[in-house]
Amino acid sequence: MMNEIITNTNITIEPVEQSRIHEVDFNNLVFGRKFSDHMFEMEFQGDKWGAPVIKPYAPFKMTPATNVLHYGQAVFEGMKAYYVDENTIHIFRPKAHYERFNNSCRRMCIPETEYEIFIEALETLIKLDHQWIPKRSGTALYIRPFIFASDDLLAARSSDTFTYQIITSPVGAYYSEGFNPVSLTTTDEYVRAVKGGTGEAKAAGNYAGSFLPAKKAKAEGYTQVLWLDAKEHKYIEEVGTMNIHFLIGDTLVTPALTGSILPGVTRRSVIALAKEWGLNVEERRITIDEVFEAHEKGELKEVFGSGTAAVVSPVGLIHHKGKNIELDREKPGEFAQKCFDKITDIQYGRAEDKFGWVH
Ligand code: PMP
Repeated sequence: MMNEIITNTNITIEPVEQSRIHEVDFNNLVFGRKFSDHMFEMEFQGDKWGAPVIKPYAPFKMTPATNVLHYGQAVFEGMKAYYVDENTIHIFRPKAHYERFNNSCRRMCIPETEYEIFIEALETLIKLDHQWIPKRSGTALYIRPFIFASDDLLAARSSDTFTYQIITSPVGAYYSEGFNPVSLTTTDEYVRAVKGGTGEAKAAGNYAGSFLPAKKAKAEGYTQVLWLDAKEHKYIEEVGTMNIHFLIGDTLVTPALTGSILPGVTRRSVIALAKEWGLNVEERRITIDEVFEAHEKGELKEVFGSGTAAVVSPVGLIHHKGKNIELDREKPGEFAQKCFDKITDIQYGRAEDKFGWVH
């Protein structure tokens, strides 16, 4: 029954015999816990990517010597598809995610992939598992493309073989009971990334390295670490899995992409909207001291994170070297709220897609 909806595809499809959708409680979705019936898969061998397949989501075999388990050669992406109406599903900015995916591949010595395959895989997979897209406002189908090194060889060098997969997961509204303001702390003990390192790539190891500092920050009562630059330890970079923005006076200041920050797709969208609305926009280096000074002068109007998961996250508190900035944000400031509304309106097809962001 399910295969009927598939058209014009170069991808071989092995549909599930029995859907698992009845196992999902769509009213209580836990992020990243349940996965749709099908997954996309393609293997790199010799010097090329092989035939693309969509098959049932299932565990797979890997030998204990598989490269990725030891050397962490892996990249991933995170994006979402939205239910608009019976005939329409939107994927938000797939091209931008694809470009970042390829940039990550280049940095991690992983062979690049083609956009045609990426988009066809997404379309086919999502059409096939369309019933898995939750329908309530704020919910979405999270899409996780990833590639890992699959050589069965204990050699600390780039793998010759790779596996490319795309899995999807229905996710609930990020803010089901109002916005949760995040509290951030800097750390002088750890850094996330250095220019020349892998921070600009969405590489698996970047996250592994951030778990301990994040755990310590949590134990101290903060939601996340506010990362400072590795060299001088004074310029603000980003937060856990979000970029960060400061509204100072009537200027939106966003840390410039200096080589150690992940270039967020939501970050780009926020900046495009701010420009469109005629705000002063500065992408530049900004020190933690400047933020504290702006706060003391009463000029720091809003601080918020941006990312695919939450779109915007209001920052309620910033701790740095024994001092706090308290913003007491139960909800986003006026500008962040405007960004949240506009971006989600575009995602759910409620507003005109002026920038051509939805597919
Ligand atoms: N920084 C990091 C380290 C992230 O993992 C993410 C999430 N992908 C972001 C920023 C935000 O990026 P995006 O807006 O593309 O989700």
